[in-house]
Amino acid sequence: MPNTFDAIIIGGGINGCSTALQLARRGVKVAVIEKDNIGDGPTGRSSAIIRQHYSNELTARMAHYSLGVFQDFEEQVGGECGFRRTGFLALAAAKDQAGLEANVALQRGVGIRTELLTVEALREIMPGIEDADLVAAAWEEDSGYADPYLTVNAYAAAARQAGARLFINTAVTGITRHGDRVTGVRTTGGDFSAPVVVNCAGPWGARVARMAGLEIPVSACRVQVSFFRRPSGEEAVHPVVVDFINASYFRSETGNLTLVGLVDPEEANAMVNPDKYDEGVDTDFILDTGERLIRRYPAMERSDSAGGYAALYDITPDWHVIVDEPLPGSGFFLCCGSSGHGFKLGPAVGLMVAERVLGVDNPRFDPHLFRLGRFADDEPVRGRYEYSIAG
Ligand SMILES: Cc1cc2nc3c(=O)[nH]c(=O)nc-3n(C[C@H](O)[C@H](O)[C@H](O)COP(=O)(O)OP(=O)(O)OC[C@H]3O[C@@H](n4cnc5c(N)ncnc54)[C@H](O)[C@@H]3O)c2cc1C
Repeated sequence: MPNTFDAIIIGGGINGCSTALQLARRGVKVAVIEKDNIGDGPTGRSSAIIRQHYSNELTARMAHYSLGVFQDFEEQVGGECGFRRTGFLALAAAKDQAGLEANVALQRGVGIRTELLTVEALREIMPGIEDADLVAAAWEEDSGYADPYLTVNAYAAAARQAGARLFINTAVTGITRHGDRVTGVRTTGGDFSAPVVVNCAGPWGARVARMAGLEIPVSACRVQVSFFRRPSGEEAVHPVVVDFINASYFRSETGNLTLVGLVDPEEANAMVNPDKYDEGVDTDFILDTGERLIRRYPAMERSDSAGGYAALYDITPDWHVIVDEPLPGSGFFLCCGSSGHGFKLGPAVGLMVAERVLGVDNPRFDPHLFRLGRFADDEPVRGRYEYSIAG
């Protein structure tokens, strides 16, 4: 049968393609089925910030491992990911000082090069920064951002080279089962069979899970980013900044732009139909993010708006991914709900999922923390901040 595989991955975003590469390199006959093109979902529209600032050891280790892949991408994956090492700043007010300091200690404990900054050191790193309201700042000199579209397509090309088959413009419309076990998928391009199906469908993850008779708490939520042109004198690339006080983040973007987004738990309330939502940016959002940016980076008062866009987060109740085979032995695996911070973790998540599918005894990253049952067990992944995405 031409469409018979060992594993089928639904979704050609960073998680699907990274998982495919890990499986294919281990000799698994894998197919990636993508309804549009590789990276056309949220991955391709990601701000693609790569930081290691996390509140729990597992995600900090995963971010650290993944940064190593982005730094050495050509060797470890192949092709280009467009990684730019700009450094990363986390800025906090008094209420988050203890959390920030504890996070930095935890991160240093897993080998991350990060430090707490004095105001003088902060001014040296980013001279134009407004610091009057700051109490604590953390710095990661190795972090930065990548080009998400290049990255995911490089992963797809590497997976293909390792033997994976990619089927684009092919939508999965059903999941076939024999008893509790999956047997394959139905698609707009015909039927495929495999004893393993991995749901990497991002904001469509709940819909795909339903095809296998499973309800999962993953919501598709509309989020926005805006761009501002840096004025004369401010052309130099600046670090990535997560500004907890103004609940926003910003980073440099090609073309002398600064990209701005929010760090706002309210984004989880903007649920939309992932097939039909407004992909443009709201004028109010541009004004709001512009004001937040100016409060932290006053020279941007002289900047012009350069528009923006809207895209989707796939959000779970604790803002962390679900990686699991909820019914053990069923062959139906979940890898969705990355909750707006899954790009940077993609290399590690792909490894985690592949090792879970293959039943590796001592996996590099144990997915237990990310099991679906954590919600029913009231054991969500907990961070040290109220800004869920900063997890
Ligand atoms: C505006 C924005 C900014 C972000 N900024 C950052 C950041 O700075 N740093 C960071 O780490 N993360 C960031 N993220 C989050 C990150 O981009 C995502 O967590 C990550 O890309 C999710 O990847 P994924 O592979 O799980 O899913 P997706 O990229 O959502 O891919 C899922 C794919 O599945 C396909 N699919 C769905 N249903 C079907 C079906 N029935 N049949 C076939 N294919 C199907 C879709 O077409 C899609 O291509 C951001 C996200 C957005 C939207």
